[in-house]
Amino acid sequence: MKLSVIVPCYNEEASLPLFFAQTEPIAQGIIAEVEYLFINDGSKDKTLEMIKKLEPKFENSKVRYLSFSRNFGKEAALLAGLEHATGDFITVMDADLQDPPEMLPEMLHLLQTEDYDCIGTKRMDRRGEPKIRSFFAQTFYRMINRISDTEMVDGVRDFRLMTRQMVDAILEVKEYNRFSKGIFSWVGFNTKYLPYENQERVAGETSWSFWSLFRYSLEAIINFSDFPLTLASFIGFFSCAFSAIALLFIVVRTLIIGDSTSGWPSLVCIILFVGGLQLFCLGIVGKYVGKIFLETKKRPVYIVKETEKS
Ligand code: UDP
Ligand code: MG
Repeated sequence: MKLSVIVPCYNEEASLPLFFAQTEPIAQGIIAEVEYLFINDGSKDKTLEMIKKLEPKFENSKVRYLSFSRNFGKEAALLAGLEHATGDFITVMDADLQDPPEMLPEMLHLLQTEDYDCIGTKRMDRRGEPKIRSFFAQTFYRMINRISDTEMVDGVRDFRLMTRQMVDAILEVKEYNRFSKGIFSWVGFNTKYLPYENQERVAGETSWSFWSLFRYSLEAIINFSDFPLTLASFIGFFSCAFSAIALLFIVVRTLIIGDSTSGWPSLVCIILFVGGLQLFCLGIVGKYVGKIFLETKKRPVYIVKETEKS
């Protein structure tokens, strides 16, 4: 049996050696063979050199890597890892030790002894995170679960151990715009989430700003729900209904008390308001059209510049 450990790395020169030193002794003891697959996602520091310098200390472990031609994002790195992993069990871990390798033995044990296809992990709290960020995260999960059929559990990390069968199913999802949390859940299978306490990064800095998380959540909504389109039609319908009633009111009033020429400022406001609504709805539709545009181009999700073989 072989375990594949997929590690997406973007500017992780400081945490990589720590990660490998801590993970290797744990992983080697639980399974016959371990393969580490580091994905260098166009790092601007010495991450690639660092990966090449990693020496396995145990006979049953092997280091492999893929290096992208530029930064394609964590989603692309994840996909590349899943596509190139050869193990019977596949795990995805961050390089910053926020995903505790100590959990691996229990995860593998559960996967082998019980009827699960995937053991995921879930943060019990959001300690060490700005309050405002937690608030937005919770709001996002509440919203997405209401408007999407695919369940997304708050606090679930990408850190998970999956069977070959589940990974093959994930690879069957060929979309270009990938939101992995959604895809993991969409493919189904039996998943158990193990809770754990939030860990701080060992070194380096997070590559997620508030703004990039915001864009990522929009990505999730557009990829896993068409509710915004329904919302746009609702807005259109209700403003239509409202204006019909208002029109009726004005006609009746004119018939009863005659025409009055006042009311220009309010007219301008109404025109601006309706124009704004139209642009808003057009923007929503445009977002989806943009996704279709990217999807139909069929561009590769990532480009590999170098691997351990070349
Ligand atoms: N990462 C990546 N490409 C990116 C951004 C991040 O491969 O464009 C990797 C990063 O090296 C780390 C993992 O994705 O191993 C999670 O990133 P990070 O720790 O910055 O996110 P956080 O844990 O703060 O959510
Ligand atoms: Mg992290």
